[in-house]
Amino acid sequence: MTERIYYAEPYRRSFDAKVMSVDIVAGHAHVTLDQTAFYPTSGGQPFDTGTLGGAAVTDVIDREDGAVIHVASGSLNVGDEVSGEIDWARRFDHMQQHTGQHLLSAAFDRLFSVRTESFHMGQLSSTVDLAREVTPSEAAKAEDDANRVVWEDRPVAIRFATAEDAASMGMRKESARTGTLRLIDVTGYDLSACGGTHVERTGAIGVIAIGGVEKFKGGSRVEFLCGGRALERFRVWRGALAAMQKHLPVPPIEMAASIERMQEDAKGATRAIRAFQEKLAAHEAQALLAKGPVVIEMLDGWDAQGIKAIAAAITTADANASVALFTHTGQVVVARGVTSKIDAGALVKQLAARFGGKGGGKPDLAQGGGFTAPVSELITFLKASI
Ligand SMILES: [Zn+2]
Repeated sequence: MTERIYYAEPYRRSFDAKVMSVDIVAGHAHVTLDQTAFYPTSGGQPFDTGTLGGAAVTDVIDREDGAVIHVASGSLNVGDEVSGEIDWARRFDHMQQHTGQHLLSAAFDRLFSVRTESFHMGQLSSTVDLAREVTPSEAAKAEDDANRVVWEDRPVAIRFATAEDAASMGMRKESARTGTLRLIDVTGYDLSACGGTHVERTGAIGVIAIGGVEKFKGGSRVEFLCGGRALERFRVWRGALAAMQKHLPVPPIEMAASIERMQEDAKGATRAIRAFQEKLAAHEAQALLAKGPVVIEMLDGWDAQGIKAIAAAITTADANASVALFTHTGQVVVARGVTSKIDAGALVKQLAARFGGKGGGKPDLAQGGGFTAPVSELITFLKASI
C-alpha cells in the first residue's frame, strides 16, 4: 500500500518519500514509494507526470494491491530518499476538468434525473455518457446550472465516511465500494464517492462549456471543456472563424445561411454549364468528325461529363468512328460507333495498366482517370493502339 498524499492534500505539488521497490519492466524503472502525491490513472482521470529524484515520471499506475507504480526513466534504488515534483499545470487542468464533471453530472441529475454512466478525460476535452438522450435545451439548462455553482464559488470538501453512513448522506450515485469511502462534497449541490483530485472551491473551475452532444449507446455523450481548455477551444474557434470571415465577410450568426445560398448558386451555375455543354457538344462533335473516323484529342475547357457527351454525339453521327477524348486533367472517355472494331473497355484497362490510374467499361464505352503520365503521352500511347 502506498500512502496517497493527494487524497487529503490535492494541492501538494512536491513531497519527500522513500523508495520501497524498483522493478525494471521493458527498460523502464517501475518504482513504488512509501507515500506519493502522484495521481495514477483511474476513475476517468489520467496520471500525473513530473520528476522523482531527478528522473522523469512518464506514467503512474494504480496496482490492484493498492500500490502506486511510478514509471521512471532514471535510475533509482531501493532505500533512496527522493523528492517528487508533479507537473502542476497538467494536474491543475485535470482538477478543473474533474470537478467540472462532478458539477455537470450533478446538474443533469438534479434538473432532469439523468444519470451519468461514465466519464472520460481526453487530451483536449472530456466526455460524460448519460443514461438517456438529452435535448439541446436540456443540455443548455444543465450547463447554466453547473456554471451558476461555479460562479457561486462554493467550497469543495473532502470527507471520509463508512459505506453505511455515506449511503444515508444522499449521494448522487451509490458506491459499490465497502469500507471507508472518500466523498467529494460540493457544498449544497453534489455528494459523490470519488478518489480523484478536485479544486478546493468551485470558482477555480472558471467555466464549464459543452462542446457538443451526440447520441451514444441509447443515451447521450456530452463533450465538455472546463477552465483553460474552454479558453483554448475558444481561441481555436475564434481563429477558424476569422479565417472563414476573410472569405465570407458576414457576422458568424449569418454564416450558415450565407454558405447555403452560395451552395445553391454554385448548383445553379453547374446546371447552366451542363446545359451549355450539351448544346456545344453537338457542334464540337461535328468539328472533330471532320478529322476522320479515328478521333484522339484532349479538349480544353471540358469536364468528364462534357467529353462523354461529345463522344456520344460523334459515335451516333458516324457508326465507323473510334473516339478517345481527354480532359486537360487526364480523364478519358473511349467510345466506338456500331461498326467500329475497337474495344473501349480493353483500351482504358491498357492505359491503367501502363500509367496507373483507374478505369474500365464496356467495349462500346469506357471511362478512366488518375493516370500518372501527361495527357500528351496518353494520346501517343492510344494513337499507337487504335
Ligand atoms: Zn471526482
